[in-house]
Amino acid sequence: MICGPVHSTMPAPKFMWGEQEIPLVQEMKHLGVLISADGSLDAHLQRITQQGNARVGAMSKLLRDPYLTVRVKRLLMLTALRPCLEYAAEVLAPNTAQSRALESVQLKAARMILGCPTLTSSEAVRGDLMLPLLSSRRDIARLKWQHRVHHMSSSSLEHQVYSRAAPCATRGRKRCMFGQVCDKVWRSLPILPQDSLSLHRSAFISSVTSAVYERDATDFSRALSTKPRLGIYNRVNEGPGVKQYLLRSSGRHQAAQIRFQFRSGTSMLQHHCSRFRNSHHADDEEEENSRCQLCQGEDTVESVQHVLFQCSAYAHIRDPFMSALLQLVGAGNFNVFRSLSFEDQLVAFLRDDFMSSASAHISAVQRLSDSFLVDVVAFRQRSLASLSSPD
Ligand SMILES: [Zn+2]
Repeated sequence: MICGPVHSTMPAPKFMWGEQEIPLVQEMKHLGVLISADGSLDAHLQRITQQGNARVGAMSKLLRDPYLTVRVKRLLMLTALRPCLEYAAEVLAPNTAQSRALESVQLKAARMILGCPTLTSSEAVRGDLMLPLLSSRRDIARLKWQHRVHHMSSSSLEHQVYSRAAPCATRGRKRCMFGQVCDKVWRSLPILPQDSLSLHRSAFISSVTSAVYERDATDFSRALSTKPRLGIYNRVNEGPGVKQYLLRSSGRHQAAQIRFQFRSGTSMLQHHCSRFRNSHHADDEEEENSRCQLCQGEDTVESVQHVLFQCSAYAHIRDPFMSALLQLVGAGNFNVFRSLSFEDQLVAFLRDDFMSSASAHISAVQRLSDSFLVDVVAFRQRSLASLSSPD
């Protein structure tokens, strides 16, 4: 077959193989990559996005399964979904919309694992599950391929294509050569291509990988500081890595989900819900909507801090929790914790190293705090249901 564009004014030339005419096609598949007649990989990008979405749909029951641990679900996503989204990543150069569509597939699966609303900030989702951006992984794959081609003999086809300075003169959309795309990546990194490309492969890979992730970490902390609703997350975030509270054994899945929602500012509490309501609501109405309905006190916004440490309606759950905590960690550690402001207590509580000074009892403290979270949320749901029921 021959792959090429069909012009409306000019009839396509016919090519014969003996008696048979060789068909002219608009799309061809080479090594599993769909190449369009104009040489673009748009059809391939569209196909892998659709395939990714279909896989997320097929895996959704497993990703939401409360009996599977987050560790297993994350592994499932990394092995059954991500490779599909990264096929031929070395040569892909998606535009902003295409790149966003690919990222959204990964995020959709991650949000299913964490059981959080679709509006949850991507930074919190990626941060707690330690999911690098697909675009960063594409950058690494691209530079690794560049390094390989750089060390090929100058007569190889790959080397000749890579060395071409100017793009093909084609009509329509401007096309980027592989080298130009690589140059753009190098400009975003603190290392120089001429120094790095001469390195041995393993040294090159580790240098490029750490430079890309360093760039991401800077972008990540910048994004955290500019989003007000990530205020708590910005303080509780323990740094890179999958957060330990997500990796606890099954049966504590619900506690992990609640903890994530409290950390990321997307809990079902009124204070968080009011942010998602339509912006056309008047400010007064919004303030009214974010009041705590269980204690009905003056100026009591139903925030995470209020529910966990201040609201009188939860005292019958909080007091036994605090007494059990005091017995476990001792008066010294407990008093240090309780002497903090409510906001600092909340940050300490939502962090995974909560009461790390009482290291001998850390797993008992974690179990205790997990069951406290579950009890608080269950009580809130029961109370709100009874408030809203007609009786
Ligand atoms: Zn209250």
